[in-house]
Amino acid sequence: MKTYKTIRHLKKRLQEYRAEGKSIGFVPTMGALHPGHISLIELSNQNSDITVCSIFVNPTQFNVKEDLDKYPRTVEEDSEMLEAGGCDVIFLPDADEIYPPDQNNEYKVDFGDLEKVMEGEHRPGHFAGVAQVLKRFLEIVEPDAMYMGQKDYQQFTIVRALLKKLDSPTRLVMGETIREKDGLAMSSRNVRLNEKERSIAPLISKTLFDAKAKIGKKSIAEIKQEALGQLDIPEFTVEYFEIADGITLQPISSLNGIETAVACTAVHLGAVRLIDNVVLK
Ligand code: AMP
Repeated sequence: MKTYKTIRHLKKRLQEYRAEGKSIGFVPTMGALHPGHISLIELSNQNSDITVCSIFVNPTQFNVKEDLDKYPRTVEEDSEMLEAGGCDVIFLPDADEIYPPDQNNEYKVDFGDLEKVMEGEHRPGHFAGVAQVLKRFLEIVEPDAMYMGQKDYQQFTIVRALLKKLDSPTRLVMGETIREKDGLAMSSRNVRLNEKERSIAPLISKTLFDAKAKIGKKSIAEIKQEALGQLDIPEFTVEYFEIADGITLQPISSLNGIETAVACTAVHLGAVRLIDNVVLK
């Protein structure tokens, strides 16, 4: 496994791989890696010849500066996990490499209604930052396939729209959400939970799975209301709990005529904001 900090060196290596006829799989991350990230590395290994993982805490996708400052940074442990997970190349750029100060780095794209709900509504500018950094990474890595997690369902949907807008040949592949034994979705932010918060956090996934179990037995309105009831404990501040069309992400009131549906939630627990989702149909 090799680590590159500059675009020039990374591109040179990737050109050599391409000359050997090897396909490139790409897993973008912000580091503080856990088995959820490694499952994407493994998925890439199964489907692509070479796996490139970027570790870059992208400042432009944080709408709250404190969250950026507190984002865990564990590059040494990350490298060890990537090596063990079979990653071939780590791309570890600094911010000036991705956003050269002498270059216009702006990228404005309208995702329409996809970004007006849920994460888009509650984290203004977040998806603009995600689109900006991924456009840049796609130009640099030019992957055959990009692997991203269901954990960030709305992000995945936005990235699918981004690839379409860019007319990109890169294939987008979804990896399932990897969970702790008690159901809590793995997240880099989980390490910031104290012991008590950590013991309460699995109620988020439990509520989502309970909602799924009620499909076909209760109305969407009832399921949503009961989920909000379950999450209504003093330790949680619920930002949203939504049952949405899995393609358009717009809230739905029934599953009639809906191809795929997803329940998504964002909850504040102490100083930590956690998101999770479950595909209902
Ligand atoms: P992040 O480092 O949080 O930006 O995440 C990098 C990638 O890992 C994204 O595609 C996420 O959706 C994915 N990811 C994060 N958590 C999980 C998880 N628990 N299971 C599977 N994929 C995940």
